[in-house]
Amino acid sequence: MSQHLLLSRAAKTLTLAQVMRMSNEEAETMFARIRWHKTNGQPVCPICGGTAVYNVRRPNGPPRWRCKGCNKEFTTTSGTLFAWHKLPVQVYLSAIAVAMNEVKGKNALALSRDLGTSYKATWVLLHKIREALGSEVKGIQVGGEGKTVETDGAYFGGHVRPANLKENRIDRRTAMNQSGKRKVVVVARERDGRTVSHVFKTERESVAWLTSRIAKGTKVVADEAASWNDLHSRFQVDRIDHQKAYSLDGISSNQAESFFSRLRRGEQGHYHHVAGPYLAAYARESSWREDNRRVSNGDQAQHAIKLAFASAPSPDFCGYYQRHKIS
Ligand SMILES: [Zn+2]
Repeated sequence: MSQHLLLSRAAKTLTLAQVMRMSNEEAETMFARIRWHKTNGQPVCPICGGTAVYNVRRPNGPPRWRCKGCNKEFTTTSGTLFAWHKLPVQVYLSAIAVAMNEVKGKNALALSRDLGTSYKATWVLLHKIREALGSEVKGIQVGGEGKTVETDGAYFGGHVRPANLKENRIDRRTAMNQSGKRKVVVVARERDGRTVSHVFKTERESVAWLTSRIAKGTKVVADEAASWNDLHSRFQVDRIDHQKAYSLDGISSNQAESFFSRLRRGEQGHYHHVAGPYLAAYARESSWREDNRRVSNGDQAQHAIKLAFASAPSPDFCGYYQRHKIS
């Protein structure tokens, strides 16, 4: 049997040990090289694009420049998702290395213990990385002429605990007795292509979104649920009845299922409470991991940093704790 990719040398191009051995300066240089790869790490002003700069680094501070063109000061992270960072850049690099090495995702509490950072700072940092990964598939369409896209939904959250005594137990299947917090993640996954996902109250509500995210001419595979009937007016849809088989005559939604099994394992093993306001972000992270599972962790980390640099400062997570007054 051939060796699993994750066990091979090729998959281990960025290790935490490697990052830990880097001096802060080396980490800063690596960051700068990835951000300004076109100028081989030479700083480019994020405001006006000028390359003529003064070095205005303060003693013991991170590298800092002032643009000769517009006179604004900036660092390696200005104007990006990691803007206004308070942690050394090495911490960001370590967090990315660890987050990429945990194939099903990393939980913030465990990472804060690994890095010796506060839980709050780590939680925000992981959400920023998640946001960077998610930005790659923002608004893209999957499928196209001659391509196949599998779609499916799975419910998360809103668990109602059964009462201890049998006589107190209620029928948890009825709408009246549910918590109302249950949400469905719907995925559209192109075979050998990208994966997009979103969160809805019901599967049926997702049809308009699916129609906008799946390109015309795509062959769609869905299960027997009535929620998908409306897709027939727009696409050629093959249905697979999971009561009878998971794969029949080449029709299956196994790739969509595999996305959910990863998200489910992430929920159970790492994040515990993925449901709630951040479910869509976890789902997008899971899609990204699924699409990049054959890419070495070093390349994944570089890619994640590039995405973070290409993303503007996070409206959701920059200064999150200051705004929400959580101490
Ligand atoms: Zn400038």
